Amino acid sequence: MAKAVYIHIPFCRNICSYCDFCKFLYNEKWAIVYLDALKQEIMDRYLDDEIKTIYIGGGTPSLLNKKELEYLFKIVEIFKKTNDYEFTFECNIEDINKDLLSILKANGVNRLSIGVESFNPQKLEFMNRKADFLDTLSKINLCREYGFNNINVDLIYAIPGETLKDLKEDLKLFLKLKVEHISTYSLMIEDHTKLKVLKTEAIDEELDYLMFLEINKALKNYHHYEISNFALPGYESKHNLTYWYNEEYYGFGLGASGYILDVRYDNTKNLKKYLLKEYVANEEIVKGQEKMNYEVMLGLRLRDGINLAKFKEKYGLSITDAYDLTKVIKNKDLIIKNGYIYINPGKIYVMNEILLKFL
Ligand code: SF4
Repeated sequence: MAKAVYIHIPFCRNICSYCDFCKFLYNEKWAIVYLDALKQEIMDRYLDDEIKTIYIGGGTPSLLNKKELEYLFKIVEIFKKTNDYEFTFECNIEDINKDLLSILKANGVNRLSIGVESFNPQKLEFMNRKADFLDTLSKINLCREYGFNNINVDLIYAIPGETLKDLKEDLKLFLKLKVEHISTYSLMIEDHTKLKVLKTEAIDEELDYLMFLEINKALKNYHHYEISNFALPGYESKHNLTYWYNEEYYGFGLGASGYILDVRYDNTKNLKKYLLKEYVANEEIVKGQEKMNYEVMLGLRLRDGINLAKFKEKYGLSITDAYDLTKVIKNKDLIIKNGYIYINPGKIYVMNEILLKFL
């Protein structure tokens, strides 16, 4: 049974140069048509499970107007929810105001995820984004006034031209926001983005690694619970932990991905097809060895790693019987301790290379 729901709202006010998410420029007429289709998809595919986490992301869900937001929250009422469910809503800083926060609060949202990314003017210009530290701080204070005490902000680094000094300055300002959770992203030049078209070169790998270390150092008072995610204790994202624990979840909306009844699927990014209820573009049945591989790839992203007893209970054999880990344990790439197996924290940056040694 799935306990998590992701809902994708694909509208944006402008398009960031690095973004490969499924998104369109916002248009009022299409927003309502889209929400009708989203409701239809949920009614067609939701299996009545009790939901523990809901995450509304995008795109930019916070740009929806009052009427559209109210409709969206009406749709969310379709789900059966546990009493203590986590409900995250992604916001752009410029959308945060009293009206938006009242609506979110009244509709049970209890976690905000804000796409701040950087305060460095060159980095922002490169990404085609805007942000201002004092404005961001005052918006976060406003969120506090409305009782939001679980806030994530996103930070992007490894922007071409960025120096370690730039990153240090960004980190100093991010710490001043005093938020409960920080998600960090090393910029990837993805296909179908403006950066790719412009043949932008990624920064040097060595510098990327130094930046990763710098982030770990600056955010040392946070729990570095996943390779790119930092939380104050108790504020780890329950929704994202569903992904890393390899548990099933719904993905609703254009371009959303999900994992239900042993099937991992990606929804279509084609609006016409979506409106015609041709929701799924690709799907893959994930069972047996394949499922175990996902468990290992996702679980080792977590600093705590994989619980050995739970792995055995789920797959009927121990992880050391399922994979030949002799070399990676001998090299101290992987460590087994206190009932868990995890990547050596000093080697987490090269996690993919370690996985390739035995997967
Ligand atoms: S990064 Fe966010 S705001 Fe920018 S285009 Fe992508 S989805 Fe829209």
